[in-house]
Amino acid sequence: MTLTPEVQSTSASEPVQLNSAGMRVTIGVFVVVPLLAVLAAIPVAWGGWLSWVDVILAVAFYAITAIGITVGYHRYFTHGSFKTGRGLKITLGIMGSMALQGSVAQWVADHRKHHKFSDEVGDPHSPWRYGTSKRAVAKGLYYAHVGWLFDENQSPISKYAPDIAGDKDLRAISRWFPAIVVGTLLLPAVLGGLITWSWAGALTAFFWATLVRVALVHHVTWSVNSICHVFGTRPFESRDLSSNVWWLALPALGENWHSLHHAEPTAARHGVLKGQLDISALLIRSLERTHLVRDVRWPKPERVVAKLKDPSMAKRVRGYRAPAAS
Ligand SMILES: [Zn+2]
Ligand SMILES: [Zn+2]
Repeated sequence: MTLTPEVQSTSASEPVQLNSAGMRVTIGVFVVVPLLAVLAAIPVAWGGWLSWVDVILAVAFYAITAIGITVGYHRYFTHGSFKTGRGLKITLGIMGSMALQGSVAQWVADHRKHHKFSDEVGDPHSPWRYGTSKRAVAKGLYYAHVGWLFDENQSPISKYAPDIAGDKDLRAISRWFPAIVVGTLLLPAVLGGLITWSWAGALTAFFWATLVRVALVHHVTWSVNSICHVFGTRPFESRDLSSNVWWLALPALGENWHSLHHAEPTAARHGVLKGQLDISALLIRSLERTHLVRDVRWPKPERVVAKLKDPSMAKRVRGYRAPAAS
């Protein structure tokens, strides 16, 4: 696995443009087509194999597990964007585990290694690992999206996540991981069955709020690793090819503002420009207001502005006031 000098030079210069028809087809095949298939199934199933109960359960379990990943696994456990007490720590650990993306310790180790070697040799999931030709990037996108999960070389927890491995509560959550798996798979079916008081209700809730929901959360998380290192815009200076992909804002709960995230990894807010929806940051803000979290590392507007490639964009940074001309 080597990255060509061409890749390393692009990280410091202009964004790579991969907007050709071939690349769009590639991205479509493994991200957009499955999503469209789900959307297409909705009107067909409505009234029979899909009801409001299924929709509400699917949205609720999507929110619980995606927040567990974005606010819990990512911004809290990996990057320490805020501090919290034992109760919320355990809650976030369980919510993240329910997304079925592995134990918190392994997730954190992989992700810290990703930041350390971002788009260079050693990155567990860089879409650029095979080179910069269209064929190589297509292969790399697949690897960054899902292929890397099957790599036998896992990031060592003892090196990258000793704090997580040393936490008694998180170790207990890891031990209980099989029970959490059963819970996240069956709970929607149990609720769907009880609410509709029917086996059919249990079955449809299992399909939409378990199978479809788990697949969607997986794909959206993986899209940050794949799409948000290839396509989109890169307004901030960073040594990798992390990028902003606006249309992922809602499902990714703000993790799609990936350019700022690599420039300021510990910041609790990734969507720092005006108009950039960051639901995870909104949630952290409301937790802060209710004193459930403290010492939140909100991005400092001056630091954010200093990392902009184009200084004229400063007026788009939230909370930034240009110094008065003297
Ligand atoms: Zn990244
Ligand atoms: Zn990160």
